[in-house]
Amino acid sequence: MKNKENLIKSIFKSRTIFKIFKIPVNIHPSWYILFILFTFIIYYDYTSLIFESKSIIKEILLSATIVIMVFFSLLAHELGHSLVGMRYGIKVNSIVLFIFGGIAQIATEPPSPKAEVLMSIAGPIVSLIVSAASGLFYLLFSFFEFEWLGSLFFALSSINLGLALFNLLPAFPMDGGRIVRAIIWKKRKNLIFATKYAYISGRIFSFLLLIIGIVVLFKENYQGLWFILLGLFLDRIAIFSYKNTLIHQKRYNSEINPEERMQ
Ligand SMILES: [Zn+2]
Repeated sequence: MKNKENLIKSIFKSRTIFKIFKIPVNIHPSWYILFILFTFIIYYDYTSLIFESKSIIKEILLSATIVIMVFFSLLAHELGHSLVGMRYGIKVNSIVLFIFGGIAQIATEPPSPKAEVLMSIAGPIVSLIVSAASGLFYLLFSFFEFEWLGSLFFALSSINLGLALFNLLPAFPMDGGRIVRAIIWKKRKNLIFATKYAYISGRIFSFLLLIIGIVVLFKENYQGLWFILLGLFLDRIAIFSYKNTLIHQKRYNSEINPEERMQ
């Protein structure tokens, strides 16, 4: 358990590549594994099928370009969360890109359920906008028969749509799960209570993902392995986020006197 927590903590300690809106953008070494793996998967399942090996080098280059664009899509998604959070005075320590996507590392919990909803929805909204814009570029390039550019933007549009929808699933600590937490938080006026329920939803979802992964792996193809790893990771991060909320809340309660908290 400790080692697994250290693994999550190590994600936050990755190397800063550049800063955007004063937020350090970090790349965890596992991102490079994703880069190679994803380039291969996109080549194998997408570009090689579309172009039927007109030029293998060109197809691999196109696949790698798609993965680099995915990097910026993830960054845009996390920036959506971060910029709304910063408007609410929340400090964003870093944005980390790693094998399972991106994470904005924020220093504190959102100040209110409303802030939590707006912060959580901002990421998927950015992904939906990127998806729609990429869709338009796809139509434009296809119309003028720029096949390669068309397929680049088609992939981007689909990936960003998938990113928005997947993140909106009601499983804490993903965006949808955070929205569920905010709704319970508002109703019960208790962040710990809300986090506990949202956390259970997150663990159930991770378990379902694990089962789906096992079924896909044995009945369909290797991609089931991805769901298994993602399920295991989400389960860990749900536990980690739940514990973090408890720690933050304890600190918050001890720092602020009861009268101040009442206001
Ligand atoms: Zn998100």
